[in-house]
Amino acid sequence: MKIGVDLDDVIAVCAVPYLKRFAQEYKVQLPDEKEIGWHLLREMDEHVSPDERDRFRLRLYDGTFFSQLDIYQDCPIVLERLVQNGHEIYFVTARAERRRMVTETWLREKRILDYAKAVHLKPHGEFNPDYPRGRYDPESSAQYKTRLAQELRLDVFCEDDVLISRTLADAGIRVLLFDHPWNRDVKHDRVTRVSGWAEAGTLLGV
Ligand SMILES: [Mg+2]
Repeated sequence: MKIGVDLDDVIAVCAVPYLKRFAQEYKVQLPDEKEIGWHLLREMDEHVSPDERDRFRLRLYDGTFFSQLDIYQDCPIVLERLVQNGHEIYFVTARAERRRMVTETWLREKRILDYAKAVHLKPHGEFNPDYPRGRYDPESSAQYKTRLAQELRLDVFCEDDVLISRTLADAGIRVLLFDHPWNRDVKHDRVTRVSGWAEAGTLLGV
């Protein structure tokens, strides 16, 4: 099988450290760690404006954030078994192409870069120029990932984003949806919710 694998919140523990830094900077309260997620940012309008949130995101991503993320503990062993069983892994992220160096260096440090046939980041031209710079743009990311999944003829895609998983599934691609507080509403015939890498591995037969 050819398997697409998203990075942030599928391989990398991302939303929790992001929101913690955000809360520290703007002195806002966060719920219990299990409920921390991207959905909370949408509720911050009265504390932090959308424009200021965009600036925070760019500042954070231009710093050391991506090089300091942890990975989910059972991810490397499952990736290793998938490759040993003859499957092909493609890392597909909506991080901008200009973040390739920090991304690949980090993947190498975590000893998982070599499991992937290729690492695909979102090229500059895939970004919607009318969209505010620095703002998370799931529409263009969903289009990008779905087109790439079709070009690469991926059989299954490991993803956490709501719109991206729905768009992939609508295009006929099977999705393993990594369970997070922000994606609990997603229900689709081709989407299977998994609690993490152990369950994903079991469903993929390793
Ligand atoms: Mg993600």
